[in-house]
Amino acid sequence: MVDRNTRIAIIGGGMGGLTAAIALTRIAGVQVTVFEQSSRLGEVGAGVTVAPNAARVLERLGVLDRIRSVGAVPDGHGVYLDAMGRMVTDAAWEDTAKQYRNIGMYRPDLINALAEAVDPETIRLGHRLTAVETVEEGVRVAFENGVDEVFDAVIGADGIHSVVRRAVDQHPEAVYSGYIVYRGVVDASRLPEDWPMISQVWMGNSRHFMCYPLQQRKLFNFVAGIPSDRPLSGPWSGPAEVDELAAEFAGDDWDPRLRHFIGLIDKTFWWGLFDHEPLTNWSRGPITLLGDAAHTMLPHQGQGVNQAIEDSMALATFLAAADDVADIPEAFRRYTSVRMQRTAILQNGSRRAGAMFDAQYEFADLGKRDADIRVGRDFRRGAVFDYDAQKVAEQALSRFRKVQYA
Ligand SMILES: Cc1cc2nc3c(=O)[nH]c(=O)nc-3n(C[C@H](O)[C@H](O)[C@H](O)COP(=O)(O)OP(=O)(O)OC[C@H]3O[C@@H](n4cnc5c(N)ncnc54)[C@H](O)[C@@H]3O)c2cc1C
Repeated sequence: MVDRNTRIAIIGGGMGGLTAAIALTRIAGVQVTVFEQSSRLGEVGAGVTVAPNAARVLERLGVLDRIRSVGAVPDGHGVYLDAMGRMVTDAAWEDTAKQYRNIGMYRPDLINALAEAVDPETIRLGHRLTAVETVEEGVRVAFENGVDEVFDAVIGADGIHSVVRRAVDQHPEAVYSGYIVYRGVVDASRLPEDWPMISQVWMGNSRHFMCYPLQQRKLFNFVAGIPSDRPLSGPWSGPAEVDELAAEFAGDDWDPRLRHFIGLIDKTFWWGLFDHEPLTNWSRGPITLLGDAAHTMLPHQGQGVNQAIEDSMALATFLAAADDVADIPEAFRRYTSVRMQRTAILQNGSRRAGAMFDAQYEFADLGKRDADIRVGRDFRRGAVFDYDAQKVAEQALSRFRKVQYA
């Protein structure tokens, strides 16, 4: 069995890498070391939704109560609205069994809650990975600061620009969606008293605006998607003027309630939306990938982190079943075969969801768009939220065992 003597390096201390550290320690019982390039663990000042499919995993890892206590569970289902605020349809917000609900999280709070569950001695900050290669004794990792070590296996949780990905011979081109988002938070005490504590999405002509509560309802997150060619010739993100965001939703064809919300924004930043085509492989020998490094996706289904959390549980389940270090490459292959299919569906689905939210009125049949959004809502509740990453990995393990001994 793999055990405390099995040393695994996780590259990247983002939400994916930290969840992997918790899962690998608690489920597979291996020794992990997390290498993070930054001098501190942190995240941008914006929101993220922990969805039921990830909440199920986080509960089994023993961290859900803590996360829920610093997050915000909405009062009920979210809504998709047209530009004037008329209801298009309700949005999925809980699993079919009504056991888990969406939790709005301020990103720095989620990072902190995950980090609290990882032994601080195992996190090495200020380590920027520059090279990774398989050697006779395992996998060698080298860092910009001169540190050079060998581990039994390496997991690349190093995000969209992953260095580890090159070691599994994957070199995807970033695909720009044609959209940027303005992101940020609003102090919830400034909102009208009857402002609903739910997720709301206004869908206008080729743009959308989303908001939902965070941090025990003290903050409201916003994400506004706008067509733009800004990131094509420069950086992918940066500070932005609130006035330029407000101008995108000005005029009488936008809901006055939405314009009021935008009037409360003090600060915002912009972010280019990029993704990749699904990779053709995630693992090579004792090296594998997880989270955005493996499956960068657009945010329109709110599943990037949630898939990294599912990855972590699946990876830990396959590793826990490995007989010894020599079996790790096979555990990684099994993990890859189960996870690649799941995440490719969500990568493609996120592109489709974006095209629906941002339909161009002159070309779109809005009745069909609305019908498609309702179909998407039911898909999310069933196929996305009800998914049990641990159970799926265990079922796959028993299938793999039958094939092995047949
Ligand atoms: C507008 C927007 C809204 C979103 N909303 C949601 C949502 O509601 N729900 C959801 O599930 N997802 C959402 N996402 C997606 C989500 O943010 C990402 O999927 C998630 O952050 C990926 O986590 P990760 O840990 O894989 O990668 P990252 O968060 O990118 O973390 C990678 C880490 O690796 C470190 N690193 C990178 N390179 C190196 C190196 N060479 N050496 C050492 N360390 C390195 C980085 O510093 C970083 O800490 C959203 C994304 C956007 C843009």
